[in-house]
Amino acid sequence: MTASTGALTDRRGRYNFSGGPGALPEEVLREAQQAIVEVPGTGLSVLGLGHRTAWFRDVVDETVHHLRCLLNLSDGYEVLLLQGGASLQFSMVPMALLRGREQPADYVLTGYWSAKALPEAQREGPVRALWDGSPAGYTRLPNDGELDCNPRAPYLHYVSNETVEGLQFHRVLGFEGVPRVCDMSSDFLSTPVDATRFALIYAHAQKNLGPAGVTVVVIRREVMDAAPADLPAMLDYRRHAHMGSIYNTPPVFAIYVTLLVMRWLRGQPGGLRGVAERNEAKAARLYGLLDASGGFYRPRAALADRSHMNVVFTLPSVELEREFLRRAEAAGFSGLEGHRTLGGVRASLYNAVTLDDVAALCAFMQEFQRSPEAR
Ligand code: PMP
Repeated sequence: MTASTGALTDRRGRYNFSGGPGALPEEVLREAQQAIVEVPGTGLSVLGLGHRTAWFRDVVDETVHHLRCLLNLSDGYEVLLLQGGASLQFSMVPMALLRGREQPADYVLTGYWSAKALPEAQREGPVRALWDGSPAGYTRLPNDGELDCNPRAPYLHYVSNETVEGLQFHRVLGFEGVPRVCDMSSDFLSTPVDATRFALIYAHAQKNLGPAGVTVVVIRREVMDAAPADLPAMLDYRRHAHMGSIYNTPPVFAIYVTLLVMRWLRGQPGGLRGVAERNEAKAARLYGLLDASGGFYRPRAALADRSHMNVVFTLPSVELEREFLRRAEAAGFSGLEGHRTLGGVRASLYNAVTLDDVAALCAFMQEFQRSPEAR
């Protein structure tokens, strides 16, 4: 059955710079559109296919297989597809790794999302804010000399890319011996990562992986097995691992589209390294424009900590920002408004955003700066 793609083509006339849910590859959207009518070879809509079918088991297995390949994972790791978003991981992590422990877990406070994670951990046990960027308005990240990690901490938690402020660690934190737990929601699979250096990685799908509704957890088996025995089933990594991520009804559609994105990702030239190079080129293009704007567009993040995924900047006045966003929207550039807590502008350059999209945005921004309103 062939579905009309007319409406889809019309909608894709816009450039999607949304912070999340973010842009997905156009070919994936077309396949997803087709699957709503009929998944090839099944005669059924993806929205009506049972989660206990052999078809769905294969979908989960193939998705996990691609994730394992992209991360080069050994058997010592489980890959789980869970619900509850990254926010539930703020709680599941300390339930499994902190409950009943005496030494505090180390949390690095670098922005909006790490500040949300810390109080959830405090419900489960002692926590220490290893570094706090809030007095400086979360405009930079700590250097290694500022991180006095506790060698006896049950774990070190940090956020690799602060989506709201546009701050990204371009290195792995902490030292071996203390399990690292990392929220990679907004830069997972945007660049190669040595997963073996982490005890647990979590990332919701709605940036680089797929639609909202599924969260990937990569967890070292021995860490998983050391969790308290009496956790509620839905909050116990072991239970999900034991059931191959089909403990209860999972978000079948979201996982299916995630599989389509994983296939797309694995087909990208140069693999994940190639994807990372293109992401760096996109970010360099946009930051280059900001830096050359004579202070008209002002990047928020310190130079060394600039995110390749979320480029956050301000204009000389709130009125100009409003006008910028209004004209950008009218010109077809969507999702550019900064996070509601911060204001300003944020251009998110997830994997599916192309260099051509960024070039178009840059051309618009140069034109805006030259316009009479901007003077
Ligand atoms: N962590 C990070 C880095 C995020 O960007 C977000 C949301 N954008 C979250 C956590 C919260 O994710 P969720 O809405 O899936 O709970």
